[in-house]
Amino acid sequence: MSTIPYGRQHISDEDIEAVVKVLRSDYLTQGPAVPEFERKVADYCKVKHAIAVSSATSALHIACLALGVQAGDRVWTSAITFAASANCARYCGADVDFVEIDPRTFNLCPDALETKFKAAAERNLLPKVLIAVHMCGQPCVMDKIGALCKKYDVRLIEDASHAIGSKYQNIATGSCTYSDIVIFSFHPVKIITTGEGGMAVTNDNALAQKMRLLRTHGITRDPAEMHKAAPAEWYYEQIDLGFNYRMTDIQAALGISQMKSLDAPFLKNRHVIADNYARMLDDLPMQLPWVHPDTYSSYHLYVVRLRLDLIGLTRDEVFRGLRSRGILVNLHYIPVYRHPYYEKLGFKPGYCPEAEKYYAEAISLPMYSNLGTEDQQRVVNALKEVLSS
Ligand SMILES: *Cc1c(COP(=O)(O)O)cnc(C)c1O
Repeated sequence: MSTIPYGRQHISDEDIEAVVKVLRSDYLTQGPAVPEFERKVADYCKVKHAIAVSSATSALHIACLALGVQAGDRVWTSAITFAASANCARYCGADVDFVEIDPRTFNLCPDALETKFKAAAERNLLPKVLIAVHMCGQPCVMDKIGALCKKYDVRLIEDASHAIGSKYQNIATGSCTYSDIVIFSFHPVKIITTGEGGMAVTNDNALAQKMRLLRTHGITRDPAEMHKAAPAEWYYEQIDLGFNYRMTDIQAALGISQMKSLDAPFLKNRHVIADNYARMLDDLPMQLPWVHPDTYSSYHLYVVRLRLDLIGLTRDEVFRGLRSRGILVNLHYIPVYRHPYYEKLGFKPGYCPEAEKYYAEAISLPMYSNLGTEDQQRVVNALKEVLSS
């Protein structure tokens, strides 16, 4: 019996050709493909600057550094996200705190954020940066979150690792309409892939310049940035402590080619699959993804919440039942503060009750652009079988 994964890449012959062309060229890295990929994504998002990097994790790291996050600062993110959304602050020596989720969208809840900002302001404990995560590909309620960050003077990063191609109020995610920096991931399970890879986009010239510098060791070849006069063309200066977070031209070529498929077939297919699930699962005891009327989701994940009170099985029994039928469902995510690393920092189980409730009920069904109708039917049949067992 073949297995059906929860997510996977789609690589076309054209993608392969694009990569092979780079392999036959002069530049495997630091060539023309990276700036071309950056321009493609920036134009798509209608944003000024794009900085391609080795992963979304490195993008989050240099985004935090560019915003000046350091030891003694506080950074907040959503309780339900991949650990990288919080770890980036820890890399900078900052303290992390978590915001409760909206039980319908699994995104951070603007009302909870407002209450938490208000309480923090009274105790002079506001964060320097908030990292809003567009869970499953559905953008957060950005106008409210943006307004709150303005009011409390908190800088805003959007972790759009799930969400390239999504829209909020009909504007592409990545436009930085409400935020300082937006981050994308190109890991193979995400919407488009470069194998490993990520990008940071911003409209702010200084932030872009800083992130470019941090991507390559803090080294500049731009005479305008140098502290000393350049004696000749070989000269460069390290003016900050940076990293090697570069993306290769091999990866960028794949990214350029993948961008051609983003709207169609990738997102178009994901929406068809989501609509099919909504119809096929309608009468089952579970909460299906709810879409906020202001958003167009990129449907990175299709997460259902089991109505455990009606089912008589635990989530893990349903999970194991599906896995044993070859349906490789997954769980996104454990509340970040429940990881031993964060518990050691003092976080206790139950810290965000809505996040915990979600964690007990959630299951990610297979969702990827070339999930076929027959395979999707197999997922639904297996789910019905398990629920009636
Ligand atoms: C995948 C993911 C990341 C990390 O992406 P990488 O490119 O693998 O580093 C960060 N945040 C979220 C929400 C993610 O899903």
